[in-house]
Parts: sequence; C-alpha cells; structure tokens
Amino acid sequence: MQFEGKAIQVREIDNGLYELCFDLSNEPVNKFNQLTLGELKDALTQLSAVENIKGVLFSSAKESFIVGADITEFSSLFEQGEAGLIAKLLETHEIFNAVEDLPCPTVVAINGLALGGGFELCLSTDYRVMGEKAKVGLPEVKLGINPGWGGIVRLPRIIGIDNANEWICAGAEKRADAALKDGAVDAVVAQDRVREAAIDLLRQCAEGKFDYAARRVEKQSPVKLNQIEQMMAFETAKGMIGAKAGPHYPAPLQAVKTIQKSCGMDRDRAIQAEVEGVAKLASGPVVKALVGLFMKDQYVKKVSRGYEAKAEKVTQAAVLGAGIMGGGVAYQSASKGVPILMKDINEAAIQLGLDEANKLLGGQLKRGRIDAAKMAQTINRIRPTLSYGDFNTVDLVVEAVVENPKVKGMVLAETEQHIASDAVLASNTSTISITELARSLKRPENFCGMHFFNPVHMMPLVEVIRGEKTSEATIARTVAYATAMGKTPIVVNDCPGFLVNRVLFPYFGGFNGLLQDGADFRQVDKVMEGFGWPMGPAYLLDVVGIDTAHHADQVMAAGFPERMAHEGESVIDRMYSLERYGQKNSKGFYRYELDRKGKPAKLADDDVDQLLQGAVGSARSFEDQEIIERMMIPLCIETVRCLEEQIVASPAEADMALIYGIGFPPFRGGVFHYLDEMGLAAFCEMAAKYAELGPLYQPTETMQQMAASGATYLN
Ligand code: NAD
Repeated sequence: MQFEGKAIQVREIDNGLYELCFDLSNEPVNKFNQLTLGELKDALTQLSAVENIKGVLFSSAKESFIVGADITEFSSLFEQGEAGLIAKLLETHEIFNAVEDLPCPTVVAINGLALGGGFELCLSTDYRVMGEKAKVGLPEVKLGINPGWGGIVRLPRIIGIDNANEWICAGAEKRADAALKDGAVDAVVAQDRVREAAIDLLRQCAEGKFDYAARRVEKQSPVKLNQIEQMMAFETAKGMIGAKAGPHYPAPLQAVKTIQKSCGMDRDRAIQAEVEGVAKLASGPVVKALVGLFMKDQYVKKVSRGYEAKAEKVTQAAVLGAGIMGGGVAYQSASKGVPILMKDINEAAIQLGLDEANKLLGGQLKRGRIDAAKMAQTINRIRPTLSYGDFNTVDLVVEAVVENPKVKGMVLAETEQHIASDAVLASNTSTISITELARSLKRPENFCGMHFFNPVHMMPLVEVIRGEKTSEATIARTVAYATAMGKTPIVVNDCPGFLVNRVLFPYFGGFNGLLQDGADFRQVDKVMEGFGWPMGPAYLLDVVGIDTAHHADQVMAAGFPERMAHEGESVIDRMYSLERYGQKNSKGFYRYELDRKGKPAKLADDDVDQLLQGAVGSARSFEDQEIIERMMIPLCIETVRCLEEQIVASPAEADMALIYGIGFPPFRGGVFHYLDEMGLAAFCEMAAKYAELGPLYQPTETMQQMAASGATYLN
C-alpha cells in the first residue's frame, strides 16, 4: 500500500513495516489542520486493511514533529457550540483511536517539537522514541482549554496521576530527559538516530521481542490507584493548582477534575468525559481572549519578521551606561549570543553592571539551566570599557545613561563621532522625544528609540520608536536586534510616553481622581488586582519608583495638557515631596522589608494616611465596580487615541504591547478585545456616567461613531 497526500505519505519501508510520515506541503511545520486529519483518517483506513502488516512507524519529514492543532481553525470550531464541538472532537478521537487500535505494533519517532495534538498522537502509539533535542508537552491550558484529543485520558495512564496533573496543568514544554524520567517516552537517542532507533524498536516488536499488545491493554485500563490514594492525589492537586491559576483561569482546575473523573473509566467513557470538559471551557469567555492573544502574538511576530527580512544583522552591540537598564541590556544581549561593549563614565558603575550580570547567570547556574562554561562564555561577551575605543566595530548602540535631555543629547552626539556611518544609535529614554533627541545628531535617520522595561531580563516588550527622521532601515535593524535578544519588539511612532507610558498615565490619573474623591488606595489596589492586574496602581507606582513616575507625570502633563495636566497637588506629587519613592527607598504607599530571599516584601505603613492628608479627599466608600470603571475608562480611551493617531499601527500590536509591557490581564485579551467584548455602545454609555470627571473620560468622536454603527476593532 502507498499513500501520497499533501500532508502525509505512507510507504512500505521493509517487508510488512510501514512508515507514515507527516510533511505538510507549503508549511514550515506540521500541524493538525483539517487537511492533515482527513488524510490521517484515510491513511489509517488503508493501513488497517493491509494484510499481514507487521508494524507502523510514525515520523516527520520536518524539523519539528507536529506542533499541535491549527489554532487558526479554533474560532470557527468553538463557534459550533458545545454539542457541535463535542461531535467534532469525537471525530478526531476516532482517528486517534484508530492509531491505537492498528492491528500491529506502532512506534513514533519524535524528532522535534511535539505539542498538543502532536503529542496526543504520540500518546496513541505503543512506543515513543525521542530525540535528545526534541520537546513534548500539552500546552492547551495556555489557551484556556484542556487537551481534547486524548491527552487527558492517555497521559495519566502512561505517566501516573501526579505527573500528568503537573504536565497538563502547567502546560510546559518538556525536554527529553524530563520526558524519559517521567515515563512519557521509552527512549531518548541522539538527534540523528531518532528514525533509525525507532525502526529498530519497531522491528523488534514485530519479531515479538516486546509485547506491544500487553502494553496496549495496560494503557487502556483504568489507572491503578485505590480510592484513598486517588483522593489524596487529586485533592492536593486541586488545592495547589486552583490557588496558582487563580479565579480567572479555569482550565488547569478543570483538567484535574476531568482527570479525576475519567481515570477510572474505560476508554470510551473517559473520552466522553474529556470532550465534555473541553467543550465546557471552550464556551467560556477566557478561551476567546487567550486564543485571540495567540493570534495577535503570531501577527506581531509576522510584522517583526517583515522587518528582519530587510535588516542588516547586529553582530556587535554596545550599551552606554552600566546602570539598572544598561546592565540589564548588556546581560540580555550577551546571554542571547550578541557580544556587547558596556561603556560607562564611572568604574564603580561598570562593576555594578557586571555584578548584576554575574548574579543573574549565577542564579541560572544554580538552577541547572546553564553550566559553568556557558556562564563564562556569556560573561566574556560583555566587554566593559570607559572609552570609545572599538566603537567603530559596533552595529548598534543602546544609549541608557541618565534621563536628562542635555546629557543624552551630548552623549549621543559624541557617540555618533565614534561609530560607523551606517551604525544605529538607539535611546532607551522613557520620556524624552526621539525627534527632539535626534536634533543633536548629524545622522538622525540612523537614530530611534529602543525602550526596554525594567527588569530587562524579565520583561518581554521593547518599544521601538520611530522619530520624524528615522529611516526604515534603522527601525528594521533595531527590531531584528530586539528579536535576537529574545524580546518582542513593537514599533510605535514618537509622542510623549510613546505607547505604554502614554496609556499608563491616564490610568494613574484615574487613580489620583479616585483618591481625591476619598477612595482608599488599598481598596483600589485590591479591586484592580481582583480585576486581573498583577499589581494595583499604588503598588505599581511603588515598584516603578515614585520619583520616576513623578517625572514622567510632568512630561505627560506637558505633552497632553488638555487631558493630563492636573491642578493642585496629586498623590504622586505628595509622595514625591515626602521623598517616599517606593521600593527603591523602602517606603511609598506601602513600606518594604527584604524577605528571606532578599526580595522586598510589601507591608502596611501606619503613617501613610496621615501623610496623604490634604492630597486625598475625605474618606468615602466606593463600590468595586465604580473603581474598575474609573480606572479602566481613561486607559482604554487613551489606547484608542494612540490607534487613531497611528502611534501604534494596529489593535493587535496595542493589545500585545499592554500585555507584555504592563501586564494588562491576559484573560481579558487586551484593551481592544475588552472594548469589543463589552461593545463600544456600552462602553460609551459607561463613560458618560463619569463625564464630569473631565476629558480623560470623553470617548473620541470615532469611538462614538463606531458605537452608533455597532463597529468593532478586531473582527
Ligand atoms: P541609572 O542611573 O541606573 O544608570 C545610568 C548610568 O549611566 C550610570 O551608571 C551612569 O554612571 C551612566 N552614565 C551617565 N553618563 C554617562 C555617559 N556620558 N556615558 C556613559 N555612561 C554614563 O539609570 P537607569 O535606571 O538605568 O536608566 C537609564 C535610562 O533608561 C534612562 O533614560 C531611563 O529613563 C531609562 N529607563 C529606565 C527604566 C527604569 O525602570 N529604571 C525603564 C525604562 C527606561
């Protein structure tokens, strides 16, 4: 028998041994789209009819094995409603059951990434041989759903309940050593031997050296744990997983519940429980937001790839300033393989920058993520210097000196004299106009903003800021460097605060207004954290630094006086004048003490109410909903303004920037998803209730027109 499809080929590799190879045409990776599933079904039907078949090898002709289901098909799948989705999932189960029920032994050669549905296919086979560099996993919870093609049913039966709970609820990609240790695969071999080793195993099965049939029966049997053991395993898992995922992300807890329900059942009933669990989740709002985010992330990556395609590569970088940000940039560049010169005017600062890099690498060494050789190699990629010698070799310089326009202007002009005429200069300024800074330069076209977030190694976003004279080649090279550093670059046009800070300060404006009207900042923090933000606004101000926020607040007020200027003393002004700068000097809205791990722990400060008197109104109680509305309306409207003024090019990029830059709650999908879900008409109605609070609460004309016509941003 021979099968020649567009996604699958089957051929006989030896007497009675067949290979079913995934190779989706015109795609860089294999994925389970409808075409692939259809061909798999047909190929299996034909294989099951082959007389005297002795074994089937499942393999991939691509670098990855199968990366999972085709997520672009999810929305239409989920729109079919619970019953429709269950029927569709059961159809795929039939195909995977057909793999499991083939009348001969089956082995899969996992040569690369096998995720989601790709790994579920692997679980349907009798034996799994994995390449040492491959990764496997069930990341469905990250999209708000559960594995729905047998992962919930088969994985606990293969690796046990505790392991399966951990694998499925964390949704992590597992390396080969971890997969072997937990029993998810049967062998790990060198990358270039995966197929050969899998064929060898298949042959031995065919010769009867391994009892594949007994193994198959065991895999399909209920999990062998008595009631008490099961109760202990599941109740502990539910407590831990529920607490970790929090109330907004139901998928991990649902997974544990379905595993618990299904692990004692026969295959058909267990599958029914699995698909019902998935359908329940798929009909909720979180999945729509998270799947939407996945698509937006893909879009953002595509935009970056467009820039990278026309970019000159950065092979040698430099950073000016070895402070908090400069040190972070140097570490990040070096750890991703791009050598970097780190220049400061101060030897002690350089030492601090290097110490920070050493500390971060030491942490990785301790956790086993890198070895001593890799640590030394990374550190050697950072070359500290007090002079511009060798700057003629660099392709891109990140300027991260103190936030002072005069100093920056001087430093940039000086640097320009020492670098090649086509090298890029990028400033990490958070508040100074890129167009203005460019005025001190002879080659303003080679200059742009490259705004990292603190701490650089943790925060995924980099805003790449286009000034009036910035060339597209400069933007392209900066985007390519940010991507090489493992970051997500988003290109924005120059304006005060760029995108992220421009949107954040109206949110702080909402916070200030609430406090002036008598709200308690602790309640505001609690409510906004409950809404899904990683920290409430008062805590966030403490973390950002009240001095930094105070300075940025003034820049924003000057940039957008009609909306962002405020009369009288704001709470940020008050904190600043009291020198309560937040975490950096251990007192702000809260006070901070280092915990056992050396991290600042947030504690109540009894003095703060007294200190805020005069800057805040007399205490009155607020409904939680009012707090949410008064905080979110200014942030949403300002984000829309950024889109309308083309500061950001698309709603997708704006949503990702706010999620990656300030931790906008992912399960709410970003500002534009949030607006679309609420409906612009409802949003404008809500904003109208607060019209007397001023222009921050005034939707734009376009928003009102869109509200009237029922338009949306994303669909
Ligand atoms: P920092 O004070 O920690 O570091 C500044 C460093 O620049 C110091 O080590 C100083 O010695 C050095 N320096 C001063 N003049 C110099 C010169 N002529 N040449 C070389 N080095 C010089 O400041 P930071 O927090 O790292 O901020 C740096 C820049 O990054 C600022 O523009 C800031 O607005 C921006 N930024 C900061 C954050 C943050 O959260 N800290 C976030 C985003 C952007």
